[in-house]
Amino acid sequence: MKHPGEIVIRHLQSTFTPTEYLSLIQQPQYQRAGQFTPHTTGKEYWARLPLYLVARCPLCNAAYVERLDTHSLLGWHPHPDRWDFIYTSKRRKSDDAEKQKRLNQVVEMSPPDKSSILENISQRIDCPHFVAVQHFINLHGILPKEMRYFSNQSEVPFVMPVFLPDDVESYAVMHSLPICRIEKKRFKPCYSLYLITYYSSAPHAMWERRRSEFTGEDALHFPKLYTWRTVELNKISEAWDLSLWTKKGKLLWLDLGQDDLPLKGKPPEEFPYANIEGIQKSYTFRQGKLKIDPY
Ligand SMILES: [Zn+2]
Repeated sequence: MKHPGEIVIRHLQSTFTPTEYLSLIQQPQYQRAGQFTPHTTGKEYWARLPLYLVARCPLCNAAYVERLDTHSLLGWHPHPDRWDFIYTSKRRKSDDAEKQKRLNQVVEMSPPDKSSILENISQRIDCPHFVAVQHFINLHGILPKEMRYFSNQSEVPFVMPVFLPDDVESYAVMHSLPICRIEKKRFKPCYSLYLITYYSSAPHAMWERRRSEFTGEDALHFPKLYTWRTVELNKISEAWDLSLWTKKGKLLWLDLGQDDLPLKGKPPEEFPYANIEGIQKSYTFRQGKLKIDPY
């Protein structure tokens, strides 16, 4: 799969005009990439973002919806729980004292509880089976020259097998959306966002398992990085093999061919994300150059 195709683009929503959006992002508080949090931009901007269906729960069919800025990479906020890369139950304050206190604490990991969901204006899960969601951005080889700085994890999506065990009913649901950039005063879809959402009949047990494998150096240096880093990931090559998980019945997807995006898991040959190409490491784009991290 290369650039976002027509089948994906039909689900794209624009809730700003390009002129409005450009004048918004020229304001100082929007100039630092990755700072488009509700905290820095205020509720008004978030309330205006399009609401997207991200997944449907395979256990109870609840819709998981999220406000996402697909108008640009600048607005796209890839770390919804600040820098955690994956949702957790704790909606944290940003002051330094609080930050330091957190760093000194034993990391607590668990799926989101009801109160955290209510506090989060950008996310609605409506289901007790939700475990976590991962985001992947794929630039399809295009340099994001509209950005002064951009950092990214793997462009190629992978699953976290720890969340998909055989002994507990558990699933992942995959979906994708295009992300635009503004060219000639138009939103042009050119990047892809891939989302993998995990569900389980025992979400707390899933997090307990993740916590028990998250030890050693990683836990020390990346106390909040609950999702896998590629160095950890490469030990289990089947994590990259999305088709394998589809054949096992563990990885489902939303049917892009239908307006209401129903859940689909069969036949596995119709899985639309089997051959995603891209960089399988984290990298940064700075001063016009892409630098791939050694890990
Ligand atoms: Zn559910």
